[in-house]
Amino acid sequence: MQKTMQAAFLPGNSTVEMRTVPVPSPGHGEVLIRVKASTICGSDIRCIYHEHLGKGPEGYQGVIAGHEPCGQIVEAGPGCRRFKAGDRVIVYHISGCGVCNDCRRGYMISCTSEKYRRAYGWQRDGGMADYMIAEEKDLIALHDELSYADGAQVACGFGTVYEGIEKIGIDGNHAVLITGLGPVGLAAAALSRKLGAQKIIGVDVVDERLKLARELRLCDDTLVSGPENVAQIMRLTGGYGVERAIECSANAAARAVAIRATRKWGKIVFIGEGGTVDFNPSPDMIHDQKTLYGSWVTSTWLMEELVERLVRWNLHPADIITHRFPLNRAADAYALMASGKCGKVAVCADEELQNSAH
Ligand SMILES: [Zn+2]
Ligand SMILES: [Zn+2]
Repeated sequence: MQKTMQAAFLPGNSTVEMRTVPVPSPGHGEVLIRVKASTICGSDIRCIYHEHLGKGPEGYQGVIAGHEPCGQIVEAGPGCRRFKAGDRVIVYHISGCGVCNDCRRGYMISCTSEKYRRAYGWQRDGGMADYMIAEEKDLIALHDELSYADGAQVACGFGTVYEGIEKIGIDGNHAVLITGLGPVGLAAAALSRKLGAQKIIGVDVVDERLKLARELRLCDDTLVSGPENVAQIMRLTGGYGVERAIECSANAAARAVAIRATRKWGKIVFIGEGGTVDFNPSPDMIHDQKTLYGSWVTSTWLMEELVERLVRWNLHPADIITHRFPLNRAADAYALMASGKCGKVAVCADEELQNSAH
């Protein structure tokens, strides 16, 4: 076993710094994972890569980057109760205290312990390295039918979308609007399709994203963002609007479209982070009996359920990965993701670097 490894850090100014660091060893209740796939999240770009914007739960502490890791356990520390060397695992990307109310619900994302809540890649070392340490309680088993790249996609994006969709409920009766067709929006389309949605309308500003959504047959109609969007969506839905809207862009105008293009009694979920929105509660929401949900990440138990469903549906989240890079080209990977002219971007190792089918 090697003693040192390569790891990527994000010092700001849209740069990536590669450093050689010791391979860590797992303590009590921890495992050492060979990272096989580590995908880049929009929040990494927004809050860390360009400049360090985040505060509190989004404050970057100069650790090894990457909060969407998936790999294989090479060593289990003392006290592990379920997982062992050789197991394939997804890392739920926030390690909570484990004993507050939020942690007990499985929502370690909103752990209330200032001392123990630490997100991988933000406040504790993450997956942009050859190896990483994770706590056993943060692990989700990766089924054999899914690749490591599939698993990395579940660690944050697909898990987050599944939670939002669970809140509003989607089935074959629904026309679904997705605003923002980055990786999270594409995940929303893929999951909506498997849940039975026959009419999926996607809106984005970036041509490459609209094209990808059509090519992957994730959206039935795609619209370039603009002032005509509500009228266009009305025309596509017999004048009524969609039954369900999933807002993934965080853009103020797109958020208003998501609300206004939803029909009476419809449901909307806001997933995209940051920014603001301007709408008129009475005409836009109250008089039309609409429900608006906010949804932040997911729980460990719902992530386990999603992994099981993915196998049942034969849905491979890695299909929306358009570019794979080895760890020593992490700088190129972040630069491409920051450009937005791509689907999901992954840093991969071993079999995942060769395996581009899934
Ligand atoms: Zn993420
Ligand atoms: Zn907690």
